[in-house]
Amino acid sequence: MKWEVVIGLEIHAQLATKSKIFSGASTAYGAEANTQACAVDLGLPGVLPVLNAEAVRMAAKFGLAIGANVARRSIFARKNYFYPDLPKGYQISQYELPIVEKGQIEIGLEDGVTKLIGITRAHLEEDAGKSLHEDFHGLTGIDLNRAGTPLLEIVSEPDMRSAQEAVAYMKKIHSLVRYLDICDGNMQEGSFRCDANVSIRPQGQQRLGTRAELKNINSFRFVERAINVEIERQIDVIEAGGEVRQETRLYDANKNETRTMRAKEEANDYRYFPDPDLLPVVLDEKYLDEVRATLPELPDQKQHRFEDEFNLSAYDASVLTASLETADYFEQVVKLTNEPKLSANWIMGDLLGALNKNDLGIEQSPVSADRLGGMIKRIADKTISGKIAKAVFDAMWQGDATADAIIASKGLQQITDSGAIEKMIDDIIANNPQQVAQYKSGKDKVFGFFVGQVMKQSKGKANPQQVNELLKHKLK
Ligand code: ADP
Ligand code: MG
Repeated sequence: MKWEVVIGLEIHAQLATKSKIFSGASTAYGAEANTQACAVDLGLPGVLPVLNAEAVRMAAKFGLAIGANVARRSIFARKNYFYPDLPKGYQISQYELPIVEKGQIEIGLEDGVTKLIGITRAHLEEDAGKSLHEDFHGLTGIDLNRAGTPLLEIVSEPDMRSAQEAVAYMKKIHSLVRYLDICDGNMQEGSFRCDANVSIRPQGQQRLGTRAELKNINSFRFVERAINVEIERQIDVIEAGGEVRQETRLYDANKNETRTMRAKEEANDYRYFPDPDLLPVVLDEKYLDEVRATLPELPDQKQHRFEDEFNLSAYDASVLTASLETADYFEQVVKLTNEPKLSANWIMGDLLGALNKNDLGIEQSPVSADRLGGMIKRIADKTISGKIAKAVFDAMWQGDATADAIIASKGLQQITDSGAIEKMIDDIIANNPQQVAQYKSGKDKVFGFFVGQVMKQSKGKANPQQVNELLKHKLK
């Protein structure tokens, strides 16, 4: 049987407000446990929540950026459940009338193929506290600092057909919230995480299969792995004559497996009802126009501008605009060098390669945009060859010096004095009569041998173009 995979994601993006969604308590990460939850966050008797206007503005900004319908009127609802990290006994969320509905986003797949993914809704809600299992010797600690932190839950249509598509979608949303400056995107700190809903169905069947929901995955790598092992599990279950149960599962990265957490709850289990303490959120045209005016250049717009303005391929432009930090870095390098293609190649090749290898983001790069730009300038003005530049780049990566300082201290300037190069060539020709004879008898390949010899003798510093020209001339 051929199976089709169906995936829908629920992404939780923590909104980058200073204070909580319904109180004035700080949202700063990393404070001592239970020092940042106030009476409102805990739902103590007699307190009233007051909606944070900034959280609303951020949600509206997101809605406008994905071409969605931003509701003129939305409602907060209570989602009732018991859990130790939720002392109120309910989470304030949005249910029937969310603030954002019906948007879409384009994801890039291999070979320049793109696909539109529908976004069903995005709603505002508060986060719960955190249960701590380490350091408590068989007990569980509760830290309520996170209670009341504003979240935007972004729910996709079940439009994805593979783990790769799900990762591309998650990365695109991550990039977008960073561009919009509404979420810091820090996945280690839990500011951006997702639940992946996964099902399979026989190829050609319209009806959706029963899904499992994989909870709280906080890295792109884990999303891909978790979905893939879950797909295999479901295929195994069905092919062995069983049925997939609708349930919530947990991905264990150490064992690379998913396991049952609980049977999946239905919406009616939560007894949602409109929160009587909060007014409906009413937004008018003027407000939305104001928010629209604050939208920055979005990832797709930036990509197209990079293609036009810098004459880059769609692929290059998409890599360079995948994150705002990379795009800013690139633009700064080009401003210095005026060499878009050369700069793109260095950033996408050596720089991103080294960053990936060391698990660093571009904002943590040991080589700043100014430093890389300084080096690229020296390639462009032929002070160094592309090959020597690799050594300069390594030295910049490891140490704390500019390209110019490294070139000067190591004497890496290219030899462009044709007299000096000619002298080396003459010696090499004199010392290798056999190869000269081979070349003259038509063995063109031997030419590479001579180039190699000159480079060796000049320690890589002879200008390659000059070497080629002079060699051709002398071996005629
Ligand atoms: P809940 O809030 O109970 O998890 P929703 O119906 O809101 O349920 O769906 C949540 C997510 O699950 C959405 O992203 C949706 O696209 C996805 N989804 C729903 N049904 C399926 C299915 N059969 N297979 C895969 N994903 C699904
Ligand atoms: Mg869900």
